[in-house]
Formats: sequence, C-alpha cells, structure tokens
Amino acid sequence: MCKNHLNPIHCIVPPYMLTKLMESGNKKIADLAINSNFRSFRFRSDRIFFQQSSIREKTILGLIGKPGGKETMAMEVYDCKQKTDFMSANLLWDTRTNQKLTSVAGKNVIKGGKAAFDFYWQLFGRNSIDNKGLLIKQYVHFDKGMDNAYWDGRRMVYGDGDGSVFTSFTSDIDVIGHELTHGVTENEANLDYENQSGAMNESFSDIFGIMIKQRYNNQDVKKSNWLIGEKVMIGPKYALRSMKAPGTAYINHPELGDDPQPATMDKYQKLPDTSSGDWGGVHINSGITNFAFYVAAFNMGGYAWEKAGRIWYAVLTDKDLAQNAKFADVKDLTIIHAEKLYGIDSSEVKAVKQGWAEAKV
Ligand SMILES: [Zn+2]
Repeated sequence: MCKNHLNPIHCIVPPYMLTKLMESGNKKIADLAINSNFRSFRFRSDRIFFQQSSIREKTILGLIGKPGGKETMAMEVYDCKQKTDFMSANLLWDTRTNQKLTSVAGKNVIKGGKAAFDFYWQLFGRNSIDNKGLLIKQYVHFDKGMDNAYWDGRRMVYGDGDGSVFTSFTSDIDVIGHELTHGVTENEANLDYENQSGAMNESFSDIFGIMIKQRYNNQDVKKSNWLIGEKVMIGPKYALRSMKAPGTAYINHPELGDDPQPATMDKYQKLPDTSSGDWGGVHINSGITNFAFYVAAFNMGGYAWEKAGRIWYAVLTDKDLAQNAKFADVKDLTIIHAEKLYGIDSSEVKAVKQGWAEAKV
C-alpha cells in the first residue's frame, strides 16, 4: 500500500509556518498561504507518480541520468512567469548555450545550483543528484506570490514569496542546497519522511545546505551564522532555522510567533504522523540533529565541509543507513565513520561524540 507521505514533496517552508500564515489577519498573506498550501497538495500527486514510475518511464521523463554520464554539470533554468504550468515555462538558461540573462531569480538559482554541484563533485566526486550526471532542472517565478520552494522528485521549483513575510525563495544558497540535497538523499538512504527518519532527512538537507553556502562564501565554522533562509524571510532578525541555536531563528514574529525547534532530545516533540503534524515534526525535531552537527563541526574547527562534512557524507551514502533510521542509528554511524576516517582516539571522534552529547541523543 502506498503511504503518500513516504513519497513526500520536499518543501522548505514547513506546514506549521503555512498554518500560521493561513490564519493571518492580513487577508493578502492568508490568501497567498492558502494558495501555497493548495500547490503543495498538487505537487504531492506528481511526486507519487515520479516515485512509482518504472525505469523506462523515469528515463523518458528525465528522472535518471545516464550511467557514466559526463562529469560536467548539466542544468536548465525555466521561468514560469508566475503561472503554474511547467509545459509553458520559458527556457531562460542552460549549460549548453550559457546565454546571458537579466533575471535575478534565474541568476540566483544558477549560482546556488553550481555551488551545490561543485560541492558534491569537487569534495566527494559525486556527479550530480543521482551520481549519474542527472540534468538539474530549476523553475523560478512559479505561481503568483507562492510561499515555498520544492524538490518534487524531478525538479526544483521556487515561488516569489508573498512580499510581506517571505521574498523570492531563490535568495539563499542554503535553501537551494537544501532542496538539491533532498534529491541526493532520495538517491542514497532515501530516509522515510516521518518521525525521526524524516527529521534526519530534513537535517541532512540543512547540514549540506549550510555547508554549500559556507563554502561558496568561504566561511569557516566561526564566521558562519549557521542560519538557514536568512534572506528568504523578510526582516533582519528572522530566518527559517538556526542550526547553532535551534528555537531562536525567529522570536515574536508578527505573523509566525516563535521558532518551535528544539535543540535537545529531552525536548523532542511527539507530533501526529499527519500532514498538519508535519509527519511527526520532521521540520521541528531536525533542530536536534542540526545542533549535534553544529557542535561537532564547531569543535573540529576550520571549514565544516573538510572534516564534519566528510563524516556526514559517508553516513548519508552508507548502505547501513536504514530508511527508517532513528537519531541513535545516525549517531552510531557518524562515530563509526569518524573512527574510520580519523582514528579511534582522534579529536574528530571526540567532537562527534560531544555533538551528540550536547544534543542529548
Ligand atoms: Zn526540506
């Protein structure tokens, strides 16, 4: 039987935020949030189809790259012109012709997409999302004022935001890296999108998303502010999530209230495994594993991708990482890989253990 939420669409704005916006006293914000929520349901049916299609169907639909495909990035960027029909979207840019473009959103996703491709290829020899050179398709200006960005199993889709709470979802490299990493996770551990495995799925996207941004900006663990979506959310004091201090990304926001993310396991939120419960709080409890990574990376020092990133990538691509893995399983694997990479008594192993200890996992 098909459990729809195990074929999820991966959106950057979680249901708990959209619910708050749908209840807003500001009619424009509420109307646009309701529309964004409707879109997410429509994407879900596409997603189920993509997930269940045969190899032949997937090849025809461009969902899988060719084995041994060229190790150069292949990307296409489309402008949906604020409509919701992918077939009528304009091709703005592609890697073959590398045409000049003026679109800010287009430039943003090219920059973020390249940063993500380079990150995976140059550091880990990973050839695109599926490691087979998959064509990266990105769609900007989807719908009018849509409050979200998605990876739907086939493409990345970005809304322009409502203009009050959110601006263009192409504004942050970490958001682009987050969505693209959902594609990587899907091709590797394919973690079930519910409860702890779902929160870990979200967390891997934040962890690699922040490192993709840090590497692009040449930021070490001290220089980075460890915020996800700081530009996407309007207002200098607001971001979608904080990996350094989960629960503080936004406080007393006029529309969204307070950031609900916990940083430690004793504050783990048991939520219903439903769409409105964020499938057991996958975007909420990811704060715990994000924090464990932050502490580990910070204690190792330098650039996060050089050591902590290698360990977490080894875990993400480890065949022993089960689809329904719990936080403790991921913890064990990070320690095993840290020991393999750096030695049993290494400071890196101590840093990893310290991370999980501070997150109380
Ligand atoms: Zn996500």
